[in-house]
Amino acid sequence: MNPDKIWLSSPHMGGNEKKYIESAFAENIVAPLGPNVTGFEYDLETFLQDGVHVAALSSGTAAIHLGLVLLGVQAGDEVLCQSMTFSASANPIMYLSAIPVFIDSEPDTWNICPQALEDAIKDRISKGKKPKAIIAVHLYGMPYKIDEIRTVAQKYEIPILEDSAEALGSTYKGQKCGTFGDVAALSFNGNKIITTSGGGALVTHNLSIKEKAVFLATQARDTAPYYQHSHIGYNYRLSNISAGIGRGQMEVLEQHIALRRDMHEFYQQVFKDFPEIEVFSEPDNDFYSNHWLTAITINAKKSGKTAEDLRQTLVKDNIESRPLWKPMHLQPVFGQYPYYGGTIASDLFSKGLCLPSGSNLTDNQKDRIKNSINGFLKDE
Ligand SMILES: *Cc1c(COP(=O)(O)O)cnc(C)c1O
Repeated sequence: MNPDKIWLSSPHMGGNEKKYIESAFAENIVAPLGPNVTGFEYDLETFLQDGVHVAALSSGTAAIHLGLVLLGVQAGDEVLCQSMTFSASANPIMYLSAIPVFIDSEPDTWNICPQALEDAIKDRISKGKKPKAIIAVHLYGMPYKIDEIRTVAQKYEIPILEDSAEALGSTYKGQKCGTFGDVAALSFNGNKIITTSGGGALVTHNLSIKEKAVFLATQARDTAPYYQHSHIGYNYRLSNISAGIGRGQMEVLEQHIALRRDMHEFYQQVFKDFPEIEVFSEPDNDFYSNHWLTAITINAKKSGKTAEDLRQTLVKDNIESRPLWKPMHLQPVFGQYPYYGGTIASDLFSKGLCLPSGSNLTDNQKDRIKNSINGFLKDE
């Protein structure tokens, strides 16, 4: 086996990250605040535009948790959540002892289905409980159906928490993902399009919401010379060291987006003569994905092969690939909670696969991926 493992998505440094880390050491600001934190927030605000304010946090999960707190979610409240997603979208609902209500996907963007969402809202209201928030996700960088979801949310006056952890650099009708929700979450985990090694951010149009997020993220200390607390706080602020990595990464974000999109095009070429395999792509020009991960679906009836067969072939060639997110309503830990919709998400899960999509893959690695896939496709 080739000893050089090809990863699904690995960190890709731009070069200047160490410069910002060194300045943190030079100034002795090795703490969860400082010029890199402020600078990284400024860079993100400038990138996202639309007048947003950004609070840098220790993870995307922390951003979703604080986002729910700031939307007023409390114990016993119901929160509507896209079922097909990473568990970090839903776990913070549980941190608050609130109740998740999972919603199926629609087939165009694989994200939360507007019809199933409205059915769920109507049914929950008829059962006597109006949901407190909607968590919508841009899976693999693909924007969810912003207009349709917003129309439903506004009709029933339920706020949206936009999980944009995978979609930094994606746009819908020219506007950046991360600027659509009542609050939004970004992630800079090691496998995301840019990384701070671990980190996240909360995005809001409202400066006082940002200030509240920072207040809660720094143990909710009241203004007093001693430590006084009127609220329960968290230790969720981003370190000045991590933020230094983030500032270096912001210098290469546009490049990373272009390279991830090149990987998507690469796979479209690889699969172009195989109609039984579909490369997940934008439904129309309103949608622009950063293609954080390129995913495919295999029609097993037509091809006689499954996504799992391809995954096994790639494993043999030391190439990592991964099934799509297993829907939350099928997870043992969430099985007892309500679910609305059909089998779109579970069907996608059974036939989908994410392929290596890093911005740092070499031509040689791409050739290995192509050869491995071609061997699989030709193998009768
Ligand atoms: C990565 C991710 C998160 C969580 O972000 P962390 O920074 O890893 O806590 C949340 N939601 C989705 C959809 C993600 O992919």
